[in-house]
Formats: sequence, structure tokens, C-alpha cells
Amino acid sequence: MSVAVSPPPLQIDRTTGLLAGARQVLSPHFDARPAGVSPELLVVHGISLPPGEFGGPWIDRLFTGTLPGDAHPYFREIAGQRVSAHALIRRDGQIVQYVPFGERAWHAGQSAYRGRSACNDFSIGVELEGTDDTPYTDAQYQALAALSAALLAAYPSLTKQAIAGHSDVSPGRKTDPGPSFEWARFRELLDQAPRASTRG
Ligand SMILES: [Zn+2]
Repeated sequence: MSVAVSPPPLQIDRTTGLLAGARQVLSPHFDARPAGVSPELLVVHGISLPPGEFGGPWIDRLFTGTLPGDAHPYFREIAGQRVSAHALIRRDGQIVQYVPFGERAWHAGQSAYRGRSACNDFSIGVELEGTDDTPYTDAQYQALAALSAALLAAYPSLTKQAIAGHSDVSPGRKTDPGPSFEWARFRELLDQAPRASTRG
């Protein structure tokens, strides 16, 4: 029998809203949350560009407003969109941050959670590189659990109960992260995640 050694908890600086050690690719696609509004919801997304292909530079390019519309037929449809997420977890578990967690990223669009609309105002959006029907990787589950634990520690307004998929807050319009995302597996890892301390 072996005992797994947990990696150290991730750290978020609440002053800057940045995750220590993440690759930072800061996006111009964000603005301030409404006055007095704190993050109360975590929204899990799935994305791949082009759809079904992993590993390219295109998600960074979309979220920074530099996606070349002529590089792929699908890009022509989406190249002008001003969208972002706070963070992306790549297939190998690497975390990329686009928007400071205290700011409002533009990830959910038309949406509602428990009767409250405009989820971007009060949520943090995390993308997993993947598709609705491709299993997400072990490294992604580990990274999402570690990031979620760090967010819960940094922002006490978040709770483990208020975590939803994009498909839950935009039903009929969005399907991500899809049936391939194993909620029970994620929640079990989150329950086991070491408690992160806070800074800032
Ligand atoms: Zn989404």
C-alpha cells in the first residue's frame, strides 16, 4: 500500500487576484464587478479550438482578442467575440490565468443561477480544455480541485455548494463541460484537497 503525497496547496493573492505559479496571459476582455459584489459561484466550462483539437495556441488567442479568423473555418465565426475566462486548465493540468479573480471575466454570457441572472457579475469561470464527450484527464481533475480549494480559501463568499457547469446556468444554449465531466469525481477530490491558506 502506498500513501499519496499531496502537492502543496495553490496560493491566490487576494490583492492582485492572481494565482501564484500560473502562466499569466492577461486578457483585455474583463471589467470590474458591480460595486459590492463578490464571487459567489464557480462556473466550470469546457473548450477546445478548433473544436475537438487540443494543445494549440488558439484559446489564448481567442481570450486575448487575437484569434486569426483565417486560420481555420470555425475561427471566422468566433474571431470577433470579446470573451474570456478567469482560467484555463490544459490537458496536462497546466493552469493559465487570463483575468484576475476579483475582476469580472466574460465567460457565461446570458445566464442565471438560482434565479439570479448575469452570472458573470458574481462568478468565477474556469475552462477545461476538452469536449463534451472526451474524458477529461486525471491531471485536469487534480488541477481543478486544487484551484477550487485555493479559490474557496481566498474568497470566503464562494462555497462548495455553489459550483455549476455552464450548461446549468445557460441551459438550452450551452452544453459544456458536457456529460464527459464527472462531477462526483471532482467533488470527491475537492473534499480531499488540502486546505489552502490565504495571503493578501
Ligand atoms: Zn462555457
